[in-house]
Amino acid sequence: MNMKTLIYSENTELSLQLLGKALQLSGTAVSAISVQSDQARLLTSSGASKVYLNKDKSFDALKLCLLDVIAKESPDLIMVGSTKRGRELAPRVAAVLNAGYSGDCFDVQQAEVGFAVKRLAYGGSTVASTRVKGKPVVISVTSRSFEKPEAQGKQGEIVELNVSVTPKIKVLETRPKNTRDAGLENAKVIVSAGRGFKRREDLKLLEELATELDAKMGCSRPVSADLGWMDQWVGISGKKVAPHLYVACGISGTIQHAAGIRDSQIIVSINSDEVAGIHELSDYSIVGDIYMVLPALTKGLRERAK
Ligand SMILES: Cc1cc2nc3c(=O)[nH]c(=O)nc-3n(C[C@H](O)[C@H](O)[C@H](O)COP(=O)(O)OP(=O)(O)OC[C@H]3O[C@@H](n4cnc5c(N)ncnc54)[C@H](O)[C@@H]3O)c2cc1C
Repeated sequence: MNMKTLIYSENTELSLQLLGKALQLSGTAVSAISVQSDQARLLTSSGASKVYLNKDKSFDALKLCLLDVIAKESPDLIMVGSTKRGRELAPRVAAVLNAGYSGDCFDVQQAEVGFAVKRLAYGGSTVASTRVKGKPVVISVTSRSFEKPEAQGKQGEIVELNVSVTPKIKVLETRPKNTRDAGLENAKVIVSAGRGFKRREDLKLLEELATELDAKMGCSRPVSADLGWMDQWVGISGKKVAPHLYVACGISGTIQHAAGIRDSQIIVSINSDEVAGIHELSDYSIVGDIYMVLPALTKGLRERAK
């Protein structure tokens, strides 16, 4: 053992998962960085020996905090949560330190030299095992890769930092997100649209089903990135989801989409093509036209709810 680990994620669930793994690897020698007092308290009571708390939440301040704490603590391993922010932060920190880096890892073990990490490759169809050498090693870690720590008796220390950066960017306006597709990562039920939908207005059919199932709405990449009908898509280059129920409507099930839904507990597909790849990924397949099946499903659910 005898190694030190530093962790960071702005997502509290993910920071606890990182802490769980860090405690396994380093025993008690785990420090964390946080920009939220609640999170800092939770981490110190969950096993982190020291949490560095900074008020300035900006990206540049956070990067400086990490570099500052790394200089003070000299950790062997730095684990950053693979969120949108973490995926930008971790490689930048590694580049400044000229450190070894691997992104989106789902496993890490101490090796004779450096660390052995695992990550999905080729759209999630294979696992790449990599050895990352040097000191420190920086990795980003995907959500739900590790368990949260068991309850701890000891209380760690919170150390306040005072790093602030004059922002180079001025925020002119903020707008609320489309709530139907916000929070897809934590949704319990997701209904998702593919190019089987011919017109934007037709998404109403999906919205009605979403209301009955109390579901969030997702989509395949072309529906979002090409057609601009929704903000976020599901898949390897979009959101990775893990709902209890994922209903894929008019989605063909390419490898890039499949990589984002493989952690779903139950997958239901509705596709008019009986040989569409999505059916092979599904627990329940409906070979049929979404324009017929969706209204029938919604009607059935409404009647059952009466
Ligand atoms: C680098 C890279 C990253 C990518 N990342 C992602 C990603 O993260 N997520 C993602 O989704 N894609 C991603 N893609 C795109 C991916 O390759 C596919 O193009 C995309 O997933 C296809 O979307 P789709 O299933 O909606 O459309 P299509 O493949 O066109 O499938 C439409 C399906 O709808 C069915 N259909 C048509 N009409 C009806 C109807 N009336 N009723 C029922 N079914 C019907 C058809 O049978 C067909 O199976 C990526 C591509 C690249 C190159």
